[in-house]
Amino acid sequence: MVRQALITGGAGFIGSHLTKLLLDAGYNVTVLDNLSTGSRQNLAQLAGNPKLKFIIADVSDEKVLAPLVRKANVIFHLAAAVGVQLIMDDPVNSMVTNIHGTEVVLRHAAHTGTRLVIASTSEVYGKSSKVPFSESDDLVFGNTSKTRWSYACSKAIDEYLALAYHRQSNLPVSVIRYFNTVGARQSDRYGMVLPRFVNQALQGKPLTVHGDGSQRRTFTHVNDSVDATFRISQHQTTIGEVFNVGGSVEISILELAKAVIDRVGSSSTIETIPYSKVYSGRGFEDMARRVPDCSKLDQAIGYTPEHSLNDIIDDVIDTYTIRNLGFDSLPRVAEAIR
Ligand code: UDP
Repeated sequence: MVRQALITGGAGFIGSHLTKLLLDAGYNVTVLDNLSTGSRQNLAQLAGNPKLKFIIADVSDEKVLAPLVRKANVIFHLAAAVGVQLIMDDPVNSMVTNIHGTEVVLRHAAHTGTRLVIASTSEVYGKSSKVPFSESDDLVFGNTSKTRWSYACSKAIDEYLALAYHRQSNLPVSVIRYFNTVGARQSDRYGMVLPRFVNQALQGKPLTVHGDGSQRRTFTHVNDSVDATFRISQHQTTIGEVFNVGGSVEISILELAKAVIDRVGSSSTIETIPYSKVYSGRGFEDMARRVPDCSKLDQAIGYTPEHSLNDIIDDVIDTYTIRNLGFDSLPRVAEAIR
């Protein structure tokens, strides 16, 4: 029997890659997306596939959601407000989307007992300095005047809710904490550093490094992320558990800026922006180092990220050049680099 998958947020960056993977694996896929940060273009290459159904609606629209949940064998809940820029610009809607939207999905999935995977984020580790980050570590947030931590808290609430539904209603749910996932079709609009740097380098503009660029991150190729996501959904042992899904190569943001300039072959310079000026001083705090411990994931499903940092950078470069026609800001960027 053909299996039915429901992906909330399936027109987003990670969601569109997961949609392709599931279609390739033989699933019928229904994407539910309100196109707030996702786009039709993200799914353009899959349009016309008879196994794909695309519904534009909010996850909190229960009349739309309920029949989709009843039909699904597995649900991937990726619909969320994501990106530091978006959280800083619109914290109210970001929190409501993340908390209320997730509660609605959990409640409906609990009603039908449907296998569910929900997307969380490495942001929940907050300012913790105990690297690498393990799932059982304490979470360390800044004070409530720093808007950024509202995102971490809202996703932490999602995790609490998921685990509570598992304990109280036996919901077969797994939680994934994604670490700086990057790759083709990721937009630079919501603050993500790599698409932003690539776009700046292609246009010959200075690369805007926040602070002195000594903060470090571990980037994950989206193909590694969605492969792990799918495999987590296939294992019974992952139910009721939280997993880090991340890469293995750590790099400072300054080194990243240099690597992007090098791979693009750009004449761009690097401009450092003091944190006090980032996001116009609206309560922005950064974290110094973010590195995942993926040993729990490796034990559960067997996990070794396959893609190098250069693969990741090259895929983002592809997004902003004429090779990837599925991307919505292509005409703007193609114009800029002509
Ligand atoms: N960053 C930067 N310049 C930018 C955008 C981001 O230096 O134009 C920095 C940001 O302050 C952070 C890192 O790059 O230290 C990663 O930022 P991103 O928003 O991609 O993800 P985060 O790890 O902060 O969630």
